[in-house]
Amino acid sequence: MTLRIGNGYDIHRLVQGRPLILGGQRLTHPDGLGLDGHSDADVLVHAVMDALLGALSLGDIGKYFPPNDPQWKGADSLVLLEQVVALVKDRGWEVVNVDSVVIAERPKLKPHIEAMRTAIAERMGLAPDQVGVKATTNETLGPEGREEGISCHAVALLSKP
Ligand code: MG
Repeated sequence: MTLRIGNGYDIHRLVQGRPLILGGQRLTHPDGLGLDGHSDADVLVHAVMDALLGALSLGDIGKYFPPNDPQWKGADSLVLLEQVVALVKDRGWEVVNVDSVVIAERPKLKPHIEAMRTAIAERMGLAPDQVGVKATTNETLGPEGREEGISCHAVALLSKP
């Protein structure tokens, strides 16, 4: 069996007038902020996709879903994730697990973690215990701490029989 590991990172700006979608869940920020971006700006799903692509040296999501392509405007990132997983499977690889950490000062993500894990696992054809989603604040430090944005780090492990 061959194993491959991949790493993904993403950050999007917090702005007024945009939805806040993380792990496919629509959340409410206390100040009404949401994530800016061409697609739904779901940083968690974007970081997971980049980890999957990175594991196979397939580039990054910008290569497959260019931000200047009108086709992806407002796109549901979970649908894009399905396409990335299909790409991985087409090449004969299986996902062993993914793990992630979202860095956000507010809102509190803990009540939504299970729903995020379930949504991501479903779209990837995995059991929820193969999908780790964690959340932390940045202790008010840096862009996440100042609520200028929300970021996410993810890793993915793939196997080939
Ligand atoms: Mg992104």
